[in-house]
Amino acid sequence: MNILPKVSIGLSLLMSGTYAFSQANSKSKIIKPNIVLIFMDDMGYGDLSCSGATQYKTPNLDRLAAQGIRFTNFVSAQAVCSASRAGILTGCYPNRVGISGALMPNAEIGLNPSEETIPEILKKQDYKTGAIGKWHLGHHRQFLPLQQGFDEYLGLPYSNDMWPVFFDGSRNVSKEYARKLNYPELPLIRNNDKIRELKTLDDQAGLTTLYTETAVDFIKRNKNNPFFLYLAHSMPHVPLAVSSKFKGKSEQGLYGDVMMEIDWSVGEILKALEQNGLEKNTLVIFTSDNGPWINFGNHAGSTGGLREGKGNSFEGGQRVPCLMKWPGHIQEGTVCNKLASTIDILPTLASITNSPLPEKKIDGVNILPLLLGDGNANPRESFLYYYRKNSLEAVRKGDWKLVFAHPGRTYIGFKPGTDGFPGEVNENFQFEEGLYDLRRDPGERYDVKEYYPEVVAELKKLADEARIDLGDDIQKAEGANRRMPGRINDN
Ligand code: MG
Repeated sequence: MNILPKVSIGLSLLMSGTYAFSQANSKSKIIKPNIVLIFMDDMGYGDLSCSGATQYKTPNLDRLAAQGIRFTNFVSAQAVCSASRAGILTGCYPNRVGISGALMPNAEIGLNPSEETIPEILKKQDYKTGAIGKWHLGHHRQFLPLQQGFDEYLGLPYSNDMWPVFFDGSRNVSKEYARKLNYPELPLIRNNDKIRELKTLDDQAGLTTLYTETAVDFIKRNKNNPFFLYLAHSMPHVPLAVSSKFKGKSEQGLYGDVMMEIDWSVGEILKALEQNGLEKNTLVIFTSDNGPWINFGNHAGSTGGLREGKGNSFEGGQRVPCLMKWPGHIQEGTVCNKLASTIDILPTLASITNSPLPEKKIDGVNILPLLLGDGNANPRESFLYYYRKNSLEAVRKGDWKLVFAHPGRTYIGFKPGTDGFPGEVNENFQFEEGLYDLRRDPGERYDVKEYYPEVVAELKKLADEARIDLGDDIQKAEGANRRMPGRINDN
């Protein structure tokens, strides 16, 4: 049984792939491009007009897709905020570097400063590095962006719902509970210091504009040197908030308004690159940390029909949009259906900038051949879907995905909430083992394991190898090669 992925790739791309590949392989053309990495929060696979969104339009994102590459099988490192961010910035499965779930405001851990991050790799190549927006890899000073490779930072240290206003107002959790956890108001941090607190939802309404203006300013200030800009938006994570520029502008309520403002933000960044003469020598990457938080109903995004959502290793939680534009290297209008992940960004940027990889073991692979249109390349053959602390919930090779029996979150069977109030979910539903053919069944609805025992056996072998390396709480396997997060008491 051949279980290599079935690949469809545009004819024009196949015809032009060799040219693009050889052109970009000439080192003189690919030395030190600027890199802009835009990372959304809880934005789903179906949330762009080019991936099926209706009742609002995302013309700037659609233009980004039209002028570059759009991935259709791109998965986040894990389907939750902190873990996903650890994955994208280190090129590792988040459980390898000891980060799981979403760090709360009382967390005493963070991304271990001994892990090598994308900005640390690029700084060795004389890049200026800036982080803007949601950090969520530890809010204590020793874990903040300036201690992890960034020259400057402006943003929130964790999610925009982790404050008393939200817990009291719309999450059906009492203010007493928030106080018990000693949640402070949301701090806005510049570099290492709190510069003010966000006290109301109106304060959050200015975040997308603030981040965008800061990003445009960073681009202008760094137009004469190579730079890496990491822009991690707080939106469209609940509680949703939008500036007056976009309030009421979509036909899909507040969520649509927020997406229109995100699209505007992307347009402002593309415009800043053009106006500063940087468009040709900049790689722009746009993706998301995880799928939509579906039980928020009309305040959640869309999976585009994929199963489940945020906090779940079915595709609705894990598969995210990914667009990349790099004129002269990425062929316009490319659609790539091959498997790739946010953890592949670090080794890809290392390859582009001719940088050494981190000394410690990483899990990402170099997907530059996919960007350059090499139709024969298949750099990522498999992917491990870990969730919770260290549970191997599924493994994928090509189009085949084997989901193991595991307890997890399900949204199915519950009525979603509305207008910022969440509906119920079951956090401990017992999922059964199932084999899914994502080519025929992207919604993971039909278990076909009894027809393909040899595929099941091959995927189980991959899982067994993963358990030796990274462990698996479900099978009570420790794993030999996991590393510790940083702790506030570490010296
Ligand atoms: Mg998120």
